Amino acid sequence: MGASSTRNQKKSLAIVAQAEEVRAELTQLDADTLRQRARDSLGNQAELLAVLGEIAHRTLGFEPFAVQLQGVLRLIDGDVVHMATGEGKTLVGAMAAAAFGLQGKRVHMITVNDYLARRDAQWMGPMVEFLGLSVGWINADMPAEQRREAYRCDVVYGPVNEIGFDVLRDRQVTDPSALVQAPADVALIDEADSVLVDEALVPLVLAGSQPGSAPTGRITDVVRGLKEDEDFEVSEDRRTVFLNEEGADKVEAALGISSLYDDEHVGSTLVQVNLALHARALLIRDIHYLVRDGKVQLIDASRGRVADLQRWPDGLQAAVEAKEGLAVTEGGRILDTITIQALMGRYPMLCGMTGTAVEATDQLHQFYGLGVSVIERHRPLQRFDEADRIYATVAEKNAAIVQEIAAVHATGQPVLVGTHDVAESEGLAEALAERGIEVNVLNAKNDAEEARIIAEAGDLGRVTVSTQMAGRGTDIRLGGADEADHDQVATLGGLAVIGTARHRSSRLDNQLRGRAGRQGDPGLSVFFVSLEDDVVVSGGSGEQITAHPDPDTGMINQKRVHDFIGHCQRVTEGQLLEIHSQTWKYNKLLTDQREIIDERRQRLLEEPDYAWQDLAKRASDRAAELADLPEEIRWQAAREIMLFHLDDSWAEHLELMDDVRESIHLRAIAKETPLDEFHRIAVREFKELVQRAVDEAVESFKKVTIDHEGAHLADAGRARPSATWTYMVSDNPLAGSGNSVLKGIGAIFR
Ligand code: ADP
Repeated sequence: MGASSTRNQKKSLAIVAQAEEVRAELTQLDADTLRQRARDSLGNQAELLAVLGEIAHRTLGFEPFAVQLQGVLRLIDGDVVHMATGEGKTLVGAMAAAAFGLQGKRVHMITVNDYLARRDAQWMGPMVEFLGLSVGWINADMPAEQRREAYRCDVVYGPVNEIGFDVLRDRQVTDPSALVQAPADVALIDEADSVLVDEALVPLVLAGSQPGSAPTGRITDVVRGLKEDEDFEVSEDRRTVFLNEEGADKVEAALGISSLYDDEHVGSTLVQVNLALHARALLIRDIHYLVRDGKVQLIDASRGRVADLQRWPDGLQAAVEAKEGLAVTEGGRILDTITIQALMGRYPMLCGMTGTAVEATDQLHQFYGLGVSVIERHRPLQRFDEADRIYATVAEKNAAIVQEIAAVHATGQPVLVGTHDVAESEGLAEALAERGIEVNVLNAKNDAEEARIIAEAGDLGRVTVSTQMAGRGTDIRLGGADEADHDQVATLGGLAVIGTARHRSSRLDNQLRGRAGRQGDPGLSVFFVSLEDDVVVSGGSGEQITAHPDPDTGMINQKRVHDFIGHCQRVTEGQLLEIHSQTWKYNKLLTDQREIIDERRQRLLEEPDYAWQDLAKRASDRAAELADLPEEIRWQAAREIMLFHLDDSWAEHLELMDDVRESIHLRAIAKETPLDEFHRIAVREFKELVQRAVDEAVESFKKVTIDHEGAHLADAGRARPSATWTYMVSDNPLAGSGNSVLKGIGAIFR
């Protein structure tokens, strides 16, 4: 399922073989002739590949391998190609982008961070530009003008979140000239499984300044008095908390209300109770956040960074502040959001590349209709993947990890340790330091710095400790980035990768293993597992397994136990898939509704007098009063009024539906199906939204002062936020922390 057919693969191989025949005669051609051959080659893939190969050689100094050409073909056909780390996907992607460019299609090259967007655009630029195509890139710190210019290029490299934030910001403009993005035909996604699967449901959020509503101290106090298991229950993975009937009774009694589940309380009191409970039970000080200088600072579990200006969504931030007895800061208002899955759904065509596509075949097929093409390695894999080393307890496991690192390090072989969160990284680094082993811990504040450290991870005698996401997309060469000690390190066995626990999906294990053994290098990978690990507890859900540890080493080495660990991981994989499809069901409806709003928004923006005509029809007296004003002023005033109320209604809708969603699993105890209930409310509210936006616009049109300077919306209390900022909310269950933790994205004020 979802795997591209063998027939396609065979066809690609034949074309690559043909291309290699054409290739020889091209070396003599001058640049103009070569360019012309490229343009003429559109119907002939073999010719196209040969020409691109020659251009890559001239401009970048790379002679593409046959497997790379094969990858290019499969990308052009719209597959996700499975190519291992270090096989040269950057070149493959750029050649495919050039091919799309020649077809007159604009391509967004989606990267996982700023650093890679800039690096790849600069590195690959000469090849694309040789063809007379333009290349640009997007970075977080770029001003609008620079972004606009970049988006006009034929090939645009950009991090997925920035591209999404620009979509969100473009959906707030009131003047077409303020739009930043230009439509694109293709998204070509690097690290495709990370973006399309792991981060698919991460919402990108645009928020605007607005005084927030603090949760009451009373509710915080009441919730503080509740007891786990007696009044509320926390799921085994500690990601969800439920108030039970007993707890609900206590809260109702303390607040003096008859039922939290009455319509009057569901949207307000119940939400606040739920937030306070979330803050109380799921978010733990020093694991999920720190308290410094009287402020709550978030710890990003997946990347393990403390970044400035990170907040939990609206009420949750206030709830944690209240729990810690801190001053509750003013909240922002969420203006708009988009999930990465919905963002990718906007492109007419998707394709991508990653070292772990096969493992994501089902998801890529189910959620995007994408096929997977496996491309063989240029040189055979020389990495040895050792069987798991299993221990009964985390303590025994950790001791064994430290011992193993010390033993490997003593030989001079470089070690890369993959941990699951920052606390673990730091604990490990400390333990190693006690033994006199110096460690590079990846907790850099920026991607470029991370890339630099990870690039050196293959250096002789180096020990690097990194969380899952750190330094993605950067090649680890043996003997250091300059490969000075390559042969010596190779003799020692290459890079040794040690995982401190199996991930919830084997795909993530493989992402880590893939760091070693690039391009035929020797390498080693091994995972340490304890029967107390999250994956085992959550995947084994209560199953007891009797193990017989070796009395000397504490290691458990029965086949039965190895199989059990594999079984637990398959269960957690199934859970993740289920969470994904469930969450998407909630998102899908809002995504469709947003599209309807978008169409209307675009019409208001594109047709200069559309808003004016509409309002004039509904309030002809007022229109007559304004008849003396110049046409453009009247039109723009009407447009701003219409757009203000459309956007305002949408933000309100999002807020309401967010509350409904927060409380819906609490309603579930009142025996209603949450998803149906959610859909019913969303459809009902949306119908009213559109009408309300128009009615309110008519009211404003009548009331607001409109003169030669335009509509004075702010004076009438209808100002757009004076500042906006963007962030990502990680609902990513892989992050393994309480949900709704913000990712390390700095704020951008406009
Ligand atoms: P990936 O993204 O697949 O992990 P990269 O694109 O970072 O790999 O490339 C890995 C390394 O291989 C780079 O240092 C690049 O210079 C090199 N490389 C790529 N293609 C070729 C080629 N055809 N010939 C020689 N070296 C290549």
